[in-house]
Amino acid sequence: MSELSSSLPPLSFDLSNMAVFLDFDGTLVDIAERPDAVIVAPATKRAMDQLSTTLSGALAIVTGRNISDIDRFLEPLHLPVAGVHGLERRSHGGALSAYPVDAALLESVAERLAPFLAAEKGLLLERKRSSIALHYRARPELKDACVAAIDRATDDLGGIHILRGKMVIEAKAGSSNKGDAIDAFLGEPPFAGRVPLFAGDDVTDEDAFAVVNRRGGISIKVGPGETSASYRAGSIDDFLGWLELIADDLERANGA
Ligand SMILES: [Mg+2]
Repeated sequence: MSELSSSLPPLSFDLSNMAVFLDFDGTLVDIAERPDAVIVAPATKRAMDQLSTTLSGALAIVTGRNISDIDRFLEPLHLPVAGVHGLERRSHGGALSAYPVDAALLESVAERLAPFLAAEKGLLLERKRSSIALHYRARPELKDACVAAIDRATDDLGGIHILRGKMVIEAKAGSSNKGDAIDAFLGEPPFAGRVPLFAGDDVTDEDAFAVVNRRGGISIKVGPGETSASYRAGSIDDFLGWLELIADDLERANGA
């Protein structure tokens, strides 16, 4: 694959009044063979710690993961998080809000998928409170079969929303998305009154780019693919390098 060049906001950009929202997988860490095998680099944690401090806490993770997973990966940081693509959210003050979920509905999706999972090795079914995710990272050739299996398992069920991401197909028990989560954060302190910046890598991040663009913020696509984002990082490393530089810059400006 050829190198994709980056067009990131210049370092002279004043980020001091920004609210920063970051996707996790494919943005802060590489997609690993198993979802639990990712590791956040110490330099990345340090940059997020700096940013959170200099932005008065206006830094949040907006992810498809469970909130508890993000806490574990980012330890000792404990940031505001929107989990499961906006179906769950923890505010800066620590208040949890979650979309009401029909657990029996998700249970029946899992039961219907069981024979497919038993027949194909290497697939992983991840149960979250508000969704079921079918990961095929270890069997990428099964993508179409996985899409068909999820469709079969859900096509007569109301209230289920299908989301296709990188190496994963997800059945969500609600329609909230990452854009809704950013809107909700921006209605609360310390995010309210700030200009949003969001970085993400996947098709599921386009809802967030749309909200950020509408609000006159900065949208950054990480890696290849069509996007409505206004900036692009060619790779995760390019993005993290930029994030570390602006975190240092902001910290210096704050201390001056
Ligand atoms: Mg991602």
